[in-house]
Amino acid sequence: MIPSSFNTVTVDLQALVANYALLRHKAGDAVLLAMVKADGYGHGMVECATALEKCGCSVFGVAELREAVILRQAGITSAIYAMIGFDHGDAELFCTCDITPVVYDPDALQALSAAAVRWGRQIGVHLKVDTGMRRLGVEGEGLQKLAAAVDTLPNLYLAGIASHFPSADDAGSSSTNDCLSRFEKMKEVVAGRPGLVHHIANSGGTLYFPRSHDDMVRCGISLYGYYPEGRDEVADDGLQPVMSYTTRVLQVKEVPPGCGVSYGHTYTTTRPTTLAVLPVGYEDGYSRLLSNRGEVLIGGSRARIRGRVCMNLCMVDVTDIEGVSAGDEAVLLGCQGSERITADEIAARCNTISYEVLCMLGNNNQRRYRE
Ligand SMILES: *Cc1c(COP(=O)(O)O)cnc(C)c1O
Repeated sequence: MIPSSFNTVTVDLQALVANYALLRHKAGDAVLLAMVKADGYGHGMVECATALEKCGCSVFGVAELREAVILRQAGITSAIYAMIGFDHGDAELFCTCDITPVVYDPDALQALSAAAVRWGRQIGVHLKVDTGMRRLGVEGEGLQKLAAAVDTLPNLYLAGIASHFPSADDAGSSSTNDCLSRFEKMKEVVAGRPGLVHHIANSGGTLYFPRSHDDMVRCGISLYGYYPEGRDEVADDGLQPVMSYTTRVLQVKEVPPGCGVSYGHTYTTTRPTTLAVLPVGYEDGYSRLLSNRGEVLIGGSRARIRGRVCMNLCMVDVTDIEGVSAGDEAVLLGCQGSERITADEIAARCNTISYEVLCMLGNNNQRRYRE
């Protein structure tokens, strides 16, 4: 038997489902596509999709075709959108696994059509348009050409048109309204085909730009309990963080003033200090940028990281916390007593965003699920 790690990511599926319900309400009449790429932003793609499908979610989004096939094999029967393209040699998987392609280039359409003819299937294609993100997608003539190709190529039909906002996390962004205007024009280019699904809103669009909801919204970060702009607050009637990350104290030691701590001695004690050694390091997704900056919860209080975060270990200052001993729980993300550390707090200390913190912790640790 392989023993467990000291460190555990806990995924609260009840919180996930509560966030889904809240976003479902915000989305109004729009369909809610649940983004489960990046292994569900570190929360487990299959586990999250399974829990969401049970509570009524019927559309999922992933980045690569590989993820879509894994979801299908895990028993997800809902629609699955592969958002960022595919190796054209794999086109038949869209038929055999019933995956929805999002397309931005003519060669992909050729490959899909050939596969659809071979399998005697019709494939509904979504076209990706660039309304200002300058990432994947076409515009102008590119869109006309793709739409015409879908119309002429055998066994393909146009099922939808999609775009993506660069700044919808900023509720006051004028660029989001500019993107929307461009999207409206592009919708006109493909209008007249029955049943088209138009979708552009991410979490920011869903929360802050109701006008952008259209036929479907694609929520990622908000499902996992975080606001896209990094609002570091948790309210009872708001989104609930789904992930927590805990470990336990390996060793406690007393050191005098003037002692260097960890590699390079970047911290020197200024008083008689009690240090707790934790089995968490950058290998576990706990960034080295948290050296001398991060805080963890022990005994319901905050304890500061002292010195550099190592590959598998780090030290925290527990001088002001009574009676800490080996085996005590330490919370790196989540609640303990009345204290809470959010992914936004960790992200701010590392100059990044909650998305990256969740992926790093979630995808580098053993996960446990709370139903
Ligand atoms: C990741 C992603 C989303 C979800 O974005 P959030 O900000 O996490 O809600 C939506 N659409 C596309 C194309 C994406 O890549």
